[in-house]
Amino acid sequence: MAQYFEIKKANPGCLLFFRMGDFFELFFDDAVAAAQALDIALTKRGRHDGADIPMCGVPVHTAETYLARLIRAGFKVAICEQIEDPAEAKKRGAKGPMRRAVVRVVTAGTLTEDGLLDARRHNYLAGLAEAGGEIGLAWLDLSTGAFALAPSSEPALPGDLARIAPGEILLPERLLTRPALFEMLAEWKSALTLLPNARFDSGAARRRLEGFYAVAALDGFGSFSRAEIAAAGALVDYVGQTQQGQTQQRKSPHLEPPRRVVPGSVMQIDAATRRNLELMTAASGERRGSLLATLDRTSTAAGARLLADRLAAPLTEPAAIDVRLDAVGFFLDSPGLRAGVRERLRHCPDIERALTRLSLGRGGPRDLAALRQSLAETAVLHDMFGESGLVPLPQMLADARRGLGEHGMLVDRLGRALAEELPLFARDGGFIAPGYSDELDEWRRLRDDSRRMIAGLQARYAEMTGIVALKIRHNNVIGYYVEISANHAGKLGPEFIHRQTMAGAQRYTTAEVAALETKIASAAERALALELRLYDNLVGEVMARRAEIAKTAAALASLDVASALAERAAEGGWVRPIVEAGTAFEISAGRHPIVEAALAASGSNGFVANDCVLDQDEARLWLVTGPNMAGKSTFLRQNALLALLAQMGSFVPARAARIGIVDRLFSRVGAADDLARGRSTFMVEMVETAAILNQAGPSSFVILDEIGRGTATFDGLSIAWATLEHLHAVNRSRTLFATHYHELTALAAKLPALACHTMRVKEWKGEVVFLHEVGPGSADRSYGIHVAKLAGLPKSVTARAEEVLEVLEKGEQGGALARLADDLPLFSAARRAHNPTPAANQSAAEELLREIRPDELTPREALDLIYRLKTLVAE
Ligand code: ADP
Repeated sequence: MAQYFEIKKANPGCLLFFRMGDFFELFFDDAVAAAQALDIALTKRGRHDGADIPMCGVPVHTAETYLARLIRAGFKVAICEQIEDPAEAKKRGAKGPMRRAVVRVVTAGTLTEDGLLDARRHNYLAGLAEAGGEIGLAWLDLSTGAFALAPSSEPALPGDLARIAPGEILLPERLLTRPALFEMLAEWKSALTLLPNARFDSGAARRRLEGFYAVAALDGFGSFSRAEIAAAGALVDYVGQTQQGQTQQRKSPHLEPPRRVVPGSVMQIDAATRRNLELMTAASGERRGSLLATLDRTSTAAGARLLADRLAAPLTEPAAIDVRLDAVGFFLDSPGLRAGVRERLRHCPDIERALTRLSLGRGGPRDLAALRQSLAETAVLHDMFGESGLVPLPQMLADARRGLGEHGMLVDRLGRALAEELPLFARDGGFIAPGYSDELDEWRRLRDDSRRMIAGLQARYAEMTGIVALKIRHNNVIGYYVEISANHAGKLGPEFIHRQTMAGAQRYTTAEVAALETKIASAAERALALELRLYDNLVGEVMARRAEIAKTAAALASLDVASALAERAAEGGWVRPIVEAGTAFEISAGRHPIVEAALAASGSNGFVANDCVLDQDEARLWLVTGPNMAGKSTFLRQNALLALLAQMGSFVPARAARIGIVDRLFSRVGAADDLARGRSTFMVEMVETAAILNQAGPSSFVILDEIGRGTATFDGLSIAWATLEHLHAVNRSRTLFATHYHELTALAAKLPALACHTMRVKEWKGEVVFLHEVGPGSADRSYGIHVAKLAGLPKSVTARAEEVLEVLEKGEQGGALARLADDLPLFSAARRAHNPTPAANQSAAEELLREIRPDELTPREALDLIYRLKTLVAE
């Protein structure tokens, strides 16, 4: 127990998985918490301080599934292993417990196992630090080795974190004492790991990074601020601490040299806008229905991760965007090559993550096989580009082709070494192919010969004893044994030594069986030891080439993304956007990719494409009016999405698009109550509007869908009015502003860069038809009552609403409204009941029927209803 307490104390804040034989066991509060989270039995074991010790356990071989659930539930888990085997313990002669140590702390941000990770998304560990009055941000994905740094600031931080979407964030305790940060980080509460301030010392961090990369100075990687270095150093330190077992074995994780994300090099998109535009997940929280899901045609997990990263961080440099677009264009123009490349990529397993597992000593034979397979494909891919003939490759593809590298020798070596069927762990043995090592083949032959000899023995014993059913069997507890049924007991000679009596059977051993068994065991043991040595050599060879292999992995991902975006463009008839400096925004026949896909999936005949041409001087700001359900939100979002797609380097769903770089994208669209933070819908709306008015500039793109709706009409209209003026005069951003306040269209006369547009509708036989077309002008009505009818509001309500509307529209609100209130709907209903027409009667009964909820009626109420219905019809 002393050992347990010591280890537990050294790992505060973690559940301790304490290795006991084939189980990881948890004790005390850990046991209570884990049993509840995992829904497993809580038992007890021994006593401490006069009380039972609560205990629960999970089998070692299925521990990963339990770990996954605990991590998802927000726990950290320290894995404490036995670090000597029983034989060693005996040799040591020590009485005490077996040596144990924590070999790893599993946290949400430091996962490497496929079973614990989403293959198609990066899992970032982020670090936040402050030095010299600046905030620095660093993030890495331990499972792939990606590592980046960037400066941040209090206002920029929410957007930066939303972009990276880390699984875990390290920060110094000190930072949480700042009220603004405390408030902002509340959203990330479950991902926060608070560490002592000393762990974020920038001097120590610099030394740690220099040591890790074995360089004399970090300048070769870029010039970083002290805050960025402090954050990065804390990350590397944390990785070392959580991967203790590996550092003890002098294995260091594979981390690429840190890459600096220059401020302003990516489009800034705040968290609300990401959610509103459903970039990574749909409003439901699922991936399905998101822009990412609509866009993603990648063939490999690494490609999917890169695509998600690009979508999260569109670029702001036209030249860099063109490099990406060139690659997509090339693949679009060469369908044959594209199909070929995509087919080959489908045969490429995830080598980024395999490489990390191997580098942490956590890999297995299947990771080597993944490398062999993917690296073998690189040669084929490399040659495919050679065949494309005269057209020079665009820069990105030429780089990728070069990056594929040359791995012939390693592929050949792995190909010869690995068997067809591979176990998950090296320790299970049997993964080295026959013919690779003479010595191994010899041990295996000895082992198999002995096994054959045992089979021979069975026949000989059966004949010798006359017991035809005599069998020689094997189990893990007593090894090989001779078994006969109970009724033959006593028929065997003295050379058969009794071992066990089972129900209906007797088990024996003989000197011959024992001797062969020893031979088999020692041959198997030597074979396994040799296999493990060979495995280590193979891993060593892979590690020696790990920088090249990482490059290959990056090249494969880049080919995958370019070909997948081309595939998507071909599928949807997307075009190459022109992305340039300046503030142009000219979309011809643009479409909303998600709505279009959803309509197509539901068999509808098509999305109506719309133009959007913003002009700095004449029409920088479009005021879009139109009825509910006419397509305003769709139109607003589609234009934001087009800018985003273009700048991430994708083709876009439009006939043509010219877009001046958008530095920041803002949205304010349909809000929901943020109850968790105690904010009403209207408050959320105002917070989002404030962010826009305070931050948007002439290069920004803003979409505002309804503002001021969550308060009284005049209140709301006034806020919308003033907001519009501010956007026009101060922010000067390209803006689409949808509203129901038709009064705002009056501003067009006063604001030169404001243009009014409306969603066109057709009234036909008393019905309203939404054309989903945007045209110049403004709507005169909202058709809200029409939508209410569609939604199934009771007829009495919509009829009454029409009456009220008529009065309101006449404008003489005061007196008419008062009369309206006097004329209570109850009276008119009663009046109608006195002068009934047959048709009205019919509908009264029908209406009553429609409102009945059969499941909520008592038998007595049901009977009453029948009488009421009968009277209605009789009248
Ligand atoms: P609003 O914001 O005006 O209330 P929405 O943008 O939410 O309307 O659109 C309502 C529905 O109309 C969408 O869910 C979609 O099915 C359909 N719709 C919108 N725009 C189009 C379009 N351009 N072409 C076809 N259908 C559309």
